[in-house]
Amino acid sequence: MQNQLIEPSLVDEIISKVSLAIGTEKVNLQEALGKTLAEDIHADRDFPPFNRVAMDGIGIHDSMLNPNGNTFLVEGVQAAGAPQLTLKENTNCIEVMTGSMLPEGANVVIPYEWTEKQGDKITVSDFKHAEFMTNIHQQGVDHKKGDVILSKGQQITSAEIGVLATVGYDQVEVIATPKIAVIATGDELVAVNEVPKDYQIRMSNCYSLQATLKDNGYQSDIYHLVDEYDLLKTKIENLSNEYDVLVFSGGVSKGKFDYLPKVFDELGIVKQFHGVKQRPGKPFWFGITKDEKAVFALPGNPVSTFLCSNRYLLPWLTHQLKNNQDNLPTKAYLDVDYSFKKPLTYFLQVKTYFDETGRLMAQPVTGGGSGDLSNLTSANAFLELPADQDNFEKGQQLPIWFYKK
Ligand code: AMP
Ligand code: MG
Repeated sequence: MQNQLIEPSLVDEIISKVSLAIGTEKVNLQEALGKTLAEDIHADRDFPPFNRVAMDGIGIHDSMLNPNGNTFLVEGVQAAGAPQLTLKENTNCIEVMTGSMLPEGANVVIPYEWTEKQGDKITVSDFKHAEFMTNIHQQGVDHKKGDVILSKGQQITSAEIGVLATVGYDQVEVIATPKIAVIATGDELVAVNEVPKDYQIRMSNCYSLQATLKDNGYQSDIYHLVDEYDLLKTKIENLSNEYDVLVFSGGVSKGKFDYLPKVFDELGIVKQFHGVKQRPGKPFWFGITKDEKAVFALPGNPVSTFLCSNRYLLPWLTHQLKNNQDNLPTKAYLDVDYSFKKPLTYFLQVKTYFDETGRLMAQPVTGGGSGDLSNLTSANAFLELPADQDNFEKGQQLPIWFYKK
């Protein structure tokens, strides 16, 4: 029976309708990187919390900013981490350190570089353009106490980590990590540490898939299931109860032992499509379990699994978990003429670079087809060549899917 093949854009549309029902969890600050905030973060005090000295130098009163310079008696030293001092006389100064509180009574900071010291006196011969509040980071200019400083849904990068630390969050509520099962199928597969017999191969897809996920902050567990109908049925039923997302590799093509579509059907996992007008990865199957979990069944050819996981699975996870509203791919310019004459979208392996005008260029890296996973190490992205065109011209701008930056 012939399956109805669909366009990659329709794949995007169908899978985007499946939502990942994930709760929230509290994690330690140091584990929050790459996660998505599940709460608004408020400033617990003004930002900065006090009038903060921004240069090492002297704190003075602006009435002393004489165009001909001035000399000050040093009253004391205001260190960072010390309580605020008070400038007693406007004609005097207090030495101030970066990060310290501005002494009460001072309202300008003159950097040491403009000063000269003789005994307990400091002379400034040129105040340059110093004025009221120069070299002072004023209390509350960045944020006021209570302001929402980071919003729910925001991705936590190293920049957010710094802000969270500043406002005292040693733990933070984030979108929980989904439980993802990566399932390799096939009788021919043996473990990495085994020596394969003539008719066997080591399983690699599950490891590259797990690594693809890990690279993007998602944990997963690996399973291997052999091509036995009843066993597949029992194990898959258990896995679909235990995990939020199931990702298979192999077992969805037209072979006699490609049992997955039938097993899924019997388990009530409803097919959304089987077959995409693309190369590699044409036999891609996607369905939804009774409790609305996504099941990605990717074709077993290593490059097919790799392409489908980077092109469809990752963007979907990112969209679901990282509040990423626009999932549009970057585009790159093809750097040679290229032909692909089949009525399929072709995902061309390319190596990217920037040309002298700063344009992102894609250079084809052709290898041995969808089984040649070593070629993936020479390229760093897939350029998406649409099905409705056979000849692509040098300079044509096309969507690109990176797996290595
Ligand atoms: P299948 O989709 O099961 O027909 O597999 C297609 C091809 O991919 C066959 O040559 C399989 O041996 C190979 N293959 C399937 N799963 C894996 C895997 N986990 N690692 C490496 N190769 C695989
Ligand atoms: Mg197989």
